[in-house]
Amino acid sequence: MNTYDVAVIGSGPGGYVAAIRCAQLGMKTAIIEKYSTLGGTCLNVGCIPSKALLDSSHHYEDAMKHFADHGIEIPGEVKLNFKKMIERKQAVVDQTTKGIDFLMNKNKIDVYEGLGSFKDATHIEITSEKETKEIETKNVIIATGSKPATLPFITVDKERIITSTEALSLKEIPKHMIVIGGGVIGLELGQVYRRLGAEVSVVEYMDRIIPTMDSAQSKELMKVMKKQGVKFHLSHKVSAVERKKNEVVITATDKKDKEVTFKGDYCLVSVGRRPYTDGLKLENAGVKVNERGQVEVNDHLQTNVSNIYAIGDVIRGAMLAHKAEEEGVLVAEILAGQKPHIDYNLIPGVVYTWPEVASVGKTEEELKEEGVDYKTGQFPMRALGRARASGDIDGFVKILSDASTDEVLGVHMVGARVADLITEAVTAMEFRASAEDIARMSHAHPTYAEAVKEAALAATENRPLHV
Ligand code: FAD
Ligand code: NAD
Repeated sequence: MNTYDVAVIGSGPGGYVAAIRCAQLGMKTAIIEKYSTLGGTCLNVGCIPSKALLDSSHHYEDAMKHFADHGIEIPGEVKLNFKKMIERKQAVVDQTTKGIDFLMNKNKIDVYEGLGSFKDATHIEITSEKETKEIETKNVIIATGSKPATLPFITVDKERIITSTEALSLKEIPKHMIVIGGGVIGLELGQVYRRLGAEVSVVEYMDRIIPTMDSAQSKELMKVMKKQGVKFHLSHKVSAVERKKNEVVITATDKKDKEVTFKGDYCLVSVGRRPYTDGLKLENAGVKVNERGQVEVNDHLQTNVSNIYAIGDVIRGAMLAHKAEEEGVLVAEILAGQKPHIDYNLIPGVVYTWPEVASVGKTEEELKEEGVDYKTGQFPMRALGRARASGDIDGFVKILSDASTDEVLGVHMVGARVADLITEAVTAMEFRASAEDIARMSHAHPTYAEAVKEAALAATENRPLHV
């Protein structure tokens, strides 16, 4: 029987990064993945394919609607080859997952293909179609991730009533896609299909989209997406989803308790994801889960069984690839006797629509709820030369800082390239910068980053230069 210092179950961004860091720190490491490709949700049916389709559909929209503004004329018709777009997405995924094979090989990590399950706290059985193997390990890292959640009355048939996984590989462009849930997945994939010509209706339970982000971002993104033709139905509680041949009928009640029906040819269910532990046989090792199905961990991400750790989507906290990665590194370093730390308040959140939406730290709603005395500085993208040059004038940067110390408490952005810009805010907050610190730093001109400096000036002394 092969023996290891660490066995990682699941090869998503949590698992494969944990395995690399363990190997770097000199541990004999195995990784177990039930699918034939490594990379988990993120690389196969999550971050990477969704961004490939967002980018492709953005190019198409630019060619259809914006090239002419720049004096670029296309003789003849712009044609969409949707099959090619999906094939390109798959090629990007294949290339990226192969990259993980390379990394496992380079770091001398043993890869086992098959479903991993606990025999006890130090023995893992690996079952594939071909064979069943068993390995012995001193430590285990559970990194089994998550699966799409649904509502009790919905049957996801994967043809017309679909989750993000199917939405990334459709064979045709929907005529009318009804999206249940105006969160990250619903808006990113809703925007993809709207750009490709579908009618898109978002039905959201709360009174705003992306409800966990700052409400100014919800408002701005909804305003822009409405202009792009997406229809929004907020404060609607879905009560039934029915398929009638090629039609889907969604029933909901609005805030006045009036019943409303929506008819389309596809329904995307994007109401969140659930932690995934099916088939792991946690009970054989005595590992506890909470009432939400998440593996319970302490601050060291250790479960109630001392040699078993858990990371990523399968535990509490934001379901984000970079959060899972940080946790993978943390556990590896703890196993090596180091004292790493994660500041969960400084894990940024991004929605990759266009304009992009990015956040770090506290929202204005959270500061109010916590009774913190704060100042606000906001700067509109349209006041930037760079934004006007490119034609991407929607959005803003908003900085929230402590009223007495000026320490930056939260930064919330909507606009072109803010997914990349948010890193400036994370860096500043890691070093506990004040708004004035950011305001006094030179920002290259002309860039979108100048909006960060201007918002900081507005937060510091209410003296932005360009509005
Ligand atoms: P996962 O990536 O889910 O990986 C878990 C792996 O474990 C899977 O490969 C699974 O097959 C395997 N596994 C499970 N059980 C077993 C078992 N018993 N034995 C062997 N293997 C097992 N996050 C971002 O930060 N940015 C984004 O842009 C982004 N976009 C997304 C878009 C979509 C459409 C979706 C669905 C998600 C997106 N996410 C994004 C979220 C991100 O994908 C997850 O947060 C991330 O993948 C979690 O990583 P993980 O390692 O915890 O789990
Ligand atoms: P989400 O939590 O972002 O959004 C779910 C939305 O559905 C919320 O707005 C919620 O209010 C709404 N909702 C819940 N129940 C409902 C109901 N009965 N009727 C109508 N609306 C309802 O979840 P998601 O969009 O499914 O994404 C799942 C996870 O994947 C998220 O945690 C997210 O972090 C991750 N993800 C991240 C990215 C990214 O980082 N860019 C992209 C995609 C997914």
